[in-house]
Amino acid sequence: MLEGMDPAPLSTCRLTDAELVLTAESGDLWAEGSFAAEGEAPCDRCSEPVVVRFGKAFRSLLVPKGRGPAGTGHAELREEDLDVGYYDGKGLEVNDIFWEQVALELPLKVVCSEDCRGICPACGANRNREPCSCPGGAPQGPFDALKTLKGKKE
Ligand SMILES: [Zn+2]
Ligand SMILES: [Zn+2]
Repeated sequence: MLEGMDPAPLSTCRLTDAELVLTAESGDLWAEGSFAAEGEAPCDRCSEPVVVRFGKAFRSLLVPKGRGPAGTGHAELREEDLDVGYYDGKGLEVNDIFWEQVALELPLKVVCSEDCRGICPACGANRNREPCSCPGGAPQGPFDALKTLKGKKE
């Protein structure tokens, strides 16, 4: 499932659970369901592979292309959790519905852990595994460098 799609920043992504109920209502389609997905991505800081799991329940209204939502009866359209999508009137790929939902939930950035210490910029060691002995274990920003320069002048 979810083949032919770009799950960036994940390198792989598959559905582990998916439920969908489609209800037709005067040409519109209500899609209600939920999904659970699992993917893998390199940690943004240390590049170690991280397994990411996410999912959500969704409810969307699919209206035929070239036409807005039918009538004025859709007061629920203002609900924030409701997505409105379009289909070409002939049919739609269930896969597409899920992929659209998955795409909305893809993480922007993946880290193996909130306190991942990343890779040492000096020696390239993964600091989660091997504490390296490079001086200045704490990351030194440009402002730290300025402070040092000032300190030397005075
Ligand atoms: Zn990491
Ligand atoms: Zn180091």
